[in-house]
Formats: sequence, C-alpha cells, structure tokens
Amino acid sequence: MQLNKNSKLYWFLQRAYFPALIVGLPAAAWLAIQNNVHFAVATYAGVAAAGLLYFVFERLMPYRPHWNQLDGDLSNDLISGTVAYGILPKILSPLYIAFLAGGTAWLASLAGGSLWPSDWPIAAQVVLLMLAGDAGRYWGHRLAHEVPFLWRFHAVHHSATRLWFWNATRQHPVDKAWFTFTELLVPTLMGVHGEVLGLYLIATAVCGFAQHCNVDLKLGPLYWLFNVVELHRWHHSKKIEESDNNYGNNLIVYDRIFGTYFHPENNGDNRGVGEIGLLNPDYPKNYLGQLAAPFKKGSDKPADYQAQP
Ligand SMILES: [Zn+2]
Repeated sequence: MQLNKNSKLYWFLQRAYFPALIVGLPAAAWLAIQNNVHFAVATYAGVAAAGLLYFVFERLMPYRPHWNQLDGDLSNDLISGTVAYGILPKILSPLYIAFLAGGTAWLASLAGGSLWPSDWPIAAQVVLLMLAGDAGRYWGHRLAHEVPFLWRFHAVHHSATRLWFWNATRQHPVDKAWFTFTELLVPTLMGVHGEVLGLYLIATAVCGFAQHCNVDLKLGPLYWLFNVVELHRWHHSKKIEESDNNYGNNLIVYDRIFGTYFHPENNGDNRGVGEIGLLNPDYPKNYLGQLAAPFKKGSDKPADYQAQP
C-alpha cells in the first residue's frame, strides 16, 4: 500500500518524518533510562524501532518503487549487517577504548579532569558527540575513498545497486573496524560516557538509515546539518566525481568546511542520482565473495570499481 502522493498527509510526512525520529527516538530512550531501563536495552530498542519505521515507510512512501524489489542481495545484506553491526562492535569498541585509555588519561591529567562535559544537558552532550564523532569519521571515510588500499575494503559498501535502509550496514569487517576507530577516536580521548554513546547510537541509526532509505523524504533547511537522504544518495553514484563527496557520518558540517559538499538540488537541479553502485560488472554479490574481493590482485585500483564515465 502506498500513500497518495498528492495528499496533505504525504506532504506533511515527507517533512516531519526525519525530525520526529532524530529527536523522538533518543528522547524516548532517555525517558526509559530515567525510568530504570538499562541503557543497552533502551539503545537496542531505539535502533530496532528506527529500522522498523524505515521498513514500513519504504512501502508507504517509496522514493523509487523499483528499489523495493529484491535483487539477489538480501542474504548478503543480512549477513553483513549482523557481522558488521551485531558482532564486531562488541569486540572492537572495548578494544579501542582500552587502546586509547592511556591517551584519555593523559589528556585528562593535562586538563585537570575529564575533557567530556558530563554536567551538560544530555541533548547537548549528544550533539557534541555527533560533532566529535564526525570529526574523525569524516576523514576516515574520505581516506577510504582516496587511499587505494582502504578503498579495496570500502568498495563493498558501494557495491549496492539499489538503496534501502539496511544498506547502511553493508560493510566489510576491515572497513567497519577502520570506520569505528576513526569515529570513536576523538570522543574516547575526551572521555565520553556510556549512556551518551547509547543515545548517540540511536541518532546515528536514524541518520544511517536515512542515508540509504528508499523513502521519499524532504529535508529542506536540515540539509545544512545532516548528511542524509539525497546528499548520501549522490555518494552512491556510479560517477566518481559525484560519489567522492558528502563523507560525513551524520553531519554535513565537515564536508562544507573541507570542500566536499555536493548537492545539485541546491542549484535547482532536481534530476536526482542516476545509476548507483560500482562500474565493475563482475564485482561479487554474495557475502563470501565480497569478503574476499579486497584481497584480489589489482583490487586497490579505484578505476576497477569506479571508472570515469
Ligand atoms: Zn563511501
């Protein structure tokens, strides 16, 4: 069932959906934590609610209806998401925090206490965490496009030929490890706390799903802040001059600062992204094939995957 595109409800949902989720889901989780729900449970519930809502709205308001059709990559996406976002973070996050503990303590001793402002209102701490996380992750992602060795692994994420919310989780484990390290680097050194991380993860899920979702959303002025929906669709373009842009994890702030902001709609060009994915027609579609792809000879040449048109 699809909603009537000409209805007032459709118009309203296009604009209200993302703001409602990015504020509402972390707020609901915080309320639950205040009522003695463990922050890990509240975090998982918030992320699951976000996923369910995107799944439903991809059917109610599809941006491109044919992107809702299966193309043989469902099992790959499900396995990849489970490994990269279910199993790996449980192993990597404690390792990174332990690895960075010396630096965190050293910075705290220099500053005469933790650099993290834990006395700030919780919403302000989540915003600060978004800024701190994106500071490292922007460069982690940009280097994954510009350093041939890193591109080998990041190409897996760009292999999707249609966008749907779950594509956010399609990542090679090495790529995921690199991205998590660059994202956690600044916040961990500042000494961020677990509950703030939990709310941030919900907001990150809302943004990550919004980057890849097949929902016909309108962000308007929120494109000044968030790197989602049409901005990230350009990042998946087959044309390298379009996709080597918009690197932010949640925010578009650093792309605007460092000159990689790409948004043709801002200049009245509303054609939308063309073909997405990699140019290499032989790139494997199954999980094991994509796990092995970065180790194949010659796979460090971006031109093999994303040649100029
Ligand atoms: Zn990328």
